[in-house]
Amino acid sequence: MTDHLETTAIRAGRSADGRALAPVMHASTTFALESVDEGRRLASAPGSTNFYSRYGNPSVAAFEEAIAELEGAEAARAFASGMGAMSAVVLGLCSTGDHIVTQNRLYAGTQMLFSAVCPRFGIEVTAVDGTDPDAWEAAIRPGKTVLCVAETPANPRLDLVDLRRLGAIAGPMTVVDSTFATPLAQRPLSYGVDLVLHSATKALAGHNDASLGVVAGSKELLDWVWGFAVLQGANASPFDAVNGLRGLRTLGVRVARQTETATRLATELSNHPKVAEVVYPGLPGFAQAELAAAQMDLAGGLLTIDLSGGLEAGRAFVESTRIAQLAPSLGGPETLVTHPASTTHVSLFPDELEAAGIRPGTVRISVGLEHPDDVVSDLLSALDACPS
Ligand SMILES: *Cc1c(COP(=O)(O)O)cnc(C)c1O
Repeated sequence: MTDHLETTAIRAGRSADGRALAPVMHASTTFALESVDEGRRLASAPGSTNFYSRYGNPSVAAFEEAIAELEGAEAARAFASGMGAMSAVVLGLCSTGDHIVTQNRLYAGTQMLFSAVCPRFGIEVTAVDGTDPDAWEAAIRPGKTVLCVAETPANPRLDLVDLRRLGAIAGPMTVVDSTFATPLAQRPLSYGVDLVLHSATKALAGHNDASLGVVAGSKELLDWVWGFAVLQGANASPFDAVNGLRGLRTLGVRVARQTETATRLATELSNHPKVAEVVYPGLPGFAQAELAAAQMDLAGGLLTIDLSGGLEAGRAFVESTRIAQLAPSLGGPETLVTHPASTTHVSLFPDELEAAGIRPGTVRISVGLEHPDDVVSDLLSALDACPS
């Protein structure tokens, strides 16, 4: 019998711990070699630990093992951040003249990597409507498209990409940023996707105390990624890996609680006159409810709402909460709210905002672990301060 993923999250990744139950931090940047031959072997073996920590580190390797097990992958590589992982995948697997297909709604950092960095290296990027499964196929240029990079659920409106259709794409390698879902909600590799990636800074580490990224897939692909990553130097710190492992132990209860509170909050907000729209994969009215039910085991702790009162309402809402705090990031114990139109996306023109899925009154809520009654009453009270 195979364990449930909640159990795996507790049992996995203990290779660096000896008999200690809590993760052991190997802070060492270097390791004593027994012989010249051993040094030569470790310097060239992908993923070797016990050589030099940019190549691999026992505490970081333990975190990687845990993620590989949770994602059903042969191997994983951890990075200093989610963007460290994404840039290693994109720049490590693509060369000048290559082409990438991605979607038009993405985490802002990933979007910048595609729009500002890739062109400098002669890597062409086509961004499609990721919710249209045919659009991915149609944008592929045979022999030129090397990667299809999806994010599901995606920033900021939780658009879903059909994992079954994405995994069936032949030719280019497929990559899924599964940060919003965690392995408890979806396992992209089981659909034939080649690489799954996370900003573990978010729900996987889960306590806002680790900057961490990770990518998982076949050993062969991870060996390629490693070859670039060792030179890129965005390797995860052992301290963050230990915090990541500590966080993983409670992933099951955290995500279950956040989903429960988010479901209740989404329902209450849907009935409020000052809320024009609630976007949450767990609501029956979610635009892709059927796909959500088919590929997600949990709806998660993130929801996006549109306030009827527009920009002024958005600003007033995020400044009027008592428990929820105004901060970027998501997936931690604290409920967080963000108002993209007045903060992260303030420089965009109205048509650009609309294309990005951000309306003047759009607020993103990352539901935390406070008592559900307190979260719901706090956010309902904040609506009192909003113009309608
Ligand atoms: C935060 C985030 C990233 C970037 O991760 P960092 O750890 O901040 O570098 C990438 N993708 C998604 C979906 C994110 O939420």
